[in-house]
Amino acid sequence: MGQPTDTVKYILPEDKIPAAWYNIQADLPAPVPPVLHPGTGQPITPADLAPLFPAAIIEQEVSQERWIEIPSPVRSIYRQWRPAPLYRARRLEKALDTPAKIYYKYEGVSPAGSHKPNTAVPQAYYSAIEGVKRLTTETGAGQWGSSLAFAGALFNLEIHVYMVKVSYQQKPYRRALMEAYGARVVASPSGETNAGREILKQHPDSTGSLGIAISEAVEIAAQDDSTKYALGSVLNHVLLHQTVIGLESLAQLELAGDYPDIIIGCTGGGSNFAGIAFPFMGAQLRGETPPVRFVAVEPAACPTLTKGKYAYDYGDTAHLTPLVKMHTLGSSFVPQGIHAGGLRYHGMAPLLSHIVELGLIEPRAHTQLDCFAAGVAFARTEGIMPAPEANHAVKAAIDEALRCKEEGTSKTVLFNLCGHGHFDMQAYIDYQAGKLRDTEYSAEEVAMALAGLPAVG
Ligand SMILES: *Cc1c(COP(=O)(O)O)cnc(C)c1O
Repeated sequence: MGQPTDTVKYILPEDKIPAAWYNIQADLPAPVPPVLHPGTGQPITPADLAPLFPAAIIEQEVSQERWIEIPSPVRSIYRQWRPAPLYRARRLEKALDTPAKIYYKYEGVSPAGSHKPNTAVPQAYYSAIEGVKRLTTETGAGQWGSSLAFAGALFNLEIHVYMVKVSYQQKPYRRALMEAYGARVVASPSGETNAGREILKQHPDSTGSLGIAISEAVEIAAQDDSTKYALGSVLNHVLLHQTVIGLESLAQLELAGDYPDIIIGCTGGGSNFAGIAFPFMGAQLRGETPPVRFVAVEPAACPTLTKGKYAYDYGDTAHLTPLVKMHTLGSSFVPQGIHAGGLRYHGMAPLLSHIVELGLIEPRAHTQLDCFAAGVAFARTEGIMPAPEANHAVKAAIDEALRCKEEGTSKTVLFNLCGHGHFDMQAYIDYQAGKLRDTEYSAEEVAMALAGLPAVG
């Protein structure tokens, strides 16, 4: 099929929505270290997870199958925004005067405005068919909470969101969206849980963190049979669901007659990065394609992959979750209040951390001001206002394109524009007014938090 040489967007028909998610565990040269029970130190069993997650999700969490079929009710909801467009950033390329080709996959076309509904919908679907009545969750900036609230509305589930207090106060529009979808939103730490009350006793002014909000949501779910917990990132099944991004991108680049040399994504818990990268990485691991450079970009204020330790740690602050081996800044570390709220997590997806250790990913950290500058440059050429999180990927893509210009080489760069910034305009107002600061992470606080890592034999 011929494409005009100046094509800007590569669109697939609805019947090209992937029929299955891709599970990279089937192709890894070494298995991911097991998740451990915090009490016994032994690998956890599906039965240990049953109070928190639906059975189908637990099965996916531990599956070694390469392809996992996407249920047809999920695919038919995906049709509303999938296949998501792949764009060639021709005006950005021109503005940078680079010989590089820059492509971006745009996940901001979903109802919630990010990649998160790709996993919220199947999680709600599996919960509903197993008779779950209510899902609890945490949210930082509100991207995940609004995605789960949307999915809950489709499957008649009650959605109960613990929202990090600083965002609850600073981001009323995301909260309003969740409430419009019918969710109940509580500022965390709250007085509703032991975990929340304990934090408030020690730090009455606590502005909260994702680690605290996870503790609250997990505590509530564990107490009631008809309530389960849903997580928007980090876990294997979430990364699995996000592979629709990369699978579609593969097909779209084939339309373009191109293949990436460099794939870039921002990393909070690792799901949108894994979503775009894993299908390409799998092809490389199977020896089917040439090697690609995979670049994971995180905020300098929460440098989990670049400054954290690869060790067993808890996923939450109150230590209710199992122990996972991941890059971590320590479960008590509370990152600075940067505007990329979705990237403020002390840990990282164990699957992604493992692959970083295998040497397949280049982690990189950028400061807030550099990322906003990149986001504004992107908006002025491509017109789309990126989410502050996505600006980290934009920054790295621009850097790679500029390096091509310096070296006089033409590389093909693919990055994930994982969400729009329409709910984050206060951050852009502050940036334009010169009010944003670069906050370095505190090495001292990280050292303190890491000193509290659990002892694992
Ligand atoms: C949640 C979120 C992130 C961070 O989560 P990942 O699991 O690392 O993808 C990044 N960008 C946006 C727009 C988000 O909503």
